[in-house]
Amino acid sequence: MGARAEDSSELRTIGLIGGMSWESSAEYYRILNEEARERLGGAHSCPCLLLSLDFARVEALQHQGRWDELGELMADSARSLACAGAQGLAILTNTMHKFADEVERAAGLPLIHIADAAGQAAASAGFSRVGLLGTRFTMEQDFYSARLAERYGLDVRIPGEKDRELVHRVIYEELVLGRVLEASRRAYVEIIGRLGEAGAQGVVLGCTEIPLLVRQKDSPLPLFDTTRLHAEAIADFCLGPRA
Ligand code: GLU
Repeated sequence: MGARAEDSSELRTIGLIGGMSWESSAEYYRILNEEARERLGGAHSCPCLLLSLDFARVEALQHQGRWDELGELMADSARSLACAGAQGLAILTNTMHKFADEVERAAGLPLIHIADAAGQAAASAGFSRVGLLGTRFTMEQDFYSARLAERYGLDVRIPGEKDRELVHRVIYEELVLGRVLEASRRAYVEIIGRLGEAGAQGVVLGCTEIPLLVRQKDSPLPLFDTTRLHAEAIADFCLGPRA
């Protein structure tokens, strides 16, 4: 089956909960529109509504452990997008998928889940053991790796304590601020190497800013770029699958 239609009245509008951080939301926006151009041609672009939160507020609540308030913020955002006419939703960060169920319930709309995009890609590559890099919350809490394990049969390996601390710090002190540093790239590549030594066959880049730092050509192991995989799944929903 090809793309949804050349007539844009048949395209579906996605509601995007983003701004976490805007550095990666900008990537999503670019990829979604490039996908529309490639799949539909001409002047087509991807119908979307972007609700972009102030990341300083989100990040402060995360680090203060005020998860209930974050859950309410995410549910309010989902309701706003549903009222504005979204036909489906996507959360443009791995970490905030902690609230995937709340978002789906609040809006009564289908959610395109980022871990499904990653899990499907890793499973169809034939992998059963993957490393996971992301924020401390994504690596250490079980909302993400449990979904990869339960739905895609993946055995998820995370870095050791010191490596997790570095991965987390680089995300919040560099990448979300638009700082992409060579020393941090080297450190991440070493951590990916250690995940390989621990048995990982590939690594899920489970934070939407990490692909700004580490690309496949830098890495000793196959990488699963969740920003791109998720954006492609969103494009499938809005535009129909690739021809
Ligand atoms: N964008 C990051 C992620 O994919 C981190 C920002 C956040 O905490 O939401 O998890």
